[in-house]
Amino acid sequence: MSNYSEMWSSLGLNLEAHDQLLKVLPPTYHDVYLTQPNRPKNMEYFDFVVNEIHGLRIQELQEHKKAGGKVIGAFCVFVPEEIVRAAGGICIGLCSGIDIGTAEAEQVLPRNICPLIKSFMGFKLAKICPYFESCDLVVGETTCDGKKKAFEILNDYVPVHVMETPQMKKGRDRDLWLEEVKDFARLVEETTGNQISAATLARSINEVNGKRRALRRLADLRKCDPAPISGKDSLLIEQIAMYDDVERFTARVNQLCDELEQRVQAGEGVFPAKTPRVIVTGTPMAIPNWKVPHIIETSGAVIVAEELCTGLRYFENEVAEDATGLDNMLENVAARYMGINCAVFTPNPGRLEKLVQLVKEYNAGGVIHCTLSFCDPYAVEANRVEKMLKQEGIPLLKIETGYDQEDAGQLKTRIEAFVEMLK
Ligand code: SF4
Ligand code: SF4
Repeated sequence: MSNYSEMWSSLGLNLEAHDQLLKVLPPTYHDVYLTQPNRPKNMEYFDFVVNEIHGLRIQELQEHKKAGGKVIGAFCVFVPEEIVRAAGGICIGLCSGIDIGTAEAEQVLPRNICPLIKSFMGFKLAKICPYFESCDLVVGETTCDGKKKAFEILNDYVPVHVMETPQMKKGRDRDLWLEEVKDFARLVEETTGNQISAATLARSINEVNGKRRALRRLADLRKCDPAPISGKDSLLIEQIAMYDDVERFTARVNQLCDELEQRVQAGEGVFPAKTPRVIVTGTPMAIPNWKVPHIIETSGAVIVAEELCTGLRYFENEVAEDATGLDNMLENVAARYMGINCAVFTPNPGRLEKLVQLVKEYNAGGVIHCTLSFCDPYAVEANRVEKMLKQEGIPLLKIETGYDQEDAGQLKTRIEAFVEMLK
């Protein structure tokens, strides 16, 4: 990485703490990613993006800001990126996938709270995330209790707008969500100083759909046996999708898919044919949380799909492109997001049906349900998942874990036993 110290200090980062973070990432990345055999050549771009994670992309955001543009940060896949883009802004996912800044976070949060919440608070309080420090506005949501209350505290340090996400999917919930989407569009217009028109929204819907289509193309290629790409690499791409430039990212994913198509034709894979295939489901795995996928893929199995928000939930549904007027377009945007099967909805039958369908489509032998510790929505919903998969005769392994590595050995033993059983 080039020397970006000047840029980081101008953002007000705590350089010492930030250095600590940068020291952790490269060795972890090397061990988890660069040691994989037979990786597709086009993964080079994504390696480059990670290598420049706090460099080049941050520089692009700063250039955008210097030219009068705004940057809007989000923590959840419910925040409509198309609206931010339609007003000339850049929407970035704020990662929260590492336990850094925990001491600072615990000064304002209870200790027993999900690591994702602790991580984003820690990143902000310890001033170690250049993405966070580039944001003109941060958007929260009322998905789970921990998050919605944490946003009140976060608002002391950065302007936070909270979107009210419904907890059910009835007609009146959909009406409420549409109003929230419209309010958000107005706020984005105020923040950026740019009006959203039918033409700009139509264009941004098409661009973000293009990103979703490229990710779906990648997902479809993983249905083949042998799998042409590892689950770890696929997860990495899904994580990068949240903050990279939309058009460049889409082009690179499509380029990778061209290569994967050739691999499929040649019968080439990253693991031998008939390697046990698993689907991972549960709480999102924010970058750089690669712990469980790494254990799975070094225990004799290949991950073929992620029923996660850093996975299929992010790209499986598109915004319909049949509307002409702005109001109808906003309705289509709102409708697309209500299709997300997050565990904060009750009931949430869509997620259970989807899982069964995925197991069949991807020819998976079993499912690994991975919940972050203290995440009530997913930990409780694991019971419904278990019931449904049992009915269908699909093997399931339930895991609860955090961001630390203390339980890595124990997890490996359990995952190896599960993979053995699948064989
Ligand atoms: S799991 Fe739910 S709350 Fe979390 S990012 Fe996904 S949709 Fe948002
Ligand atoms: S992982 Fe669970 S507890 Fe944590 S923010 Fe997401 S839904 Fe909330």
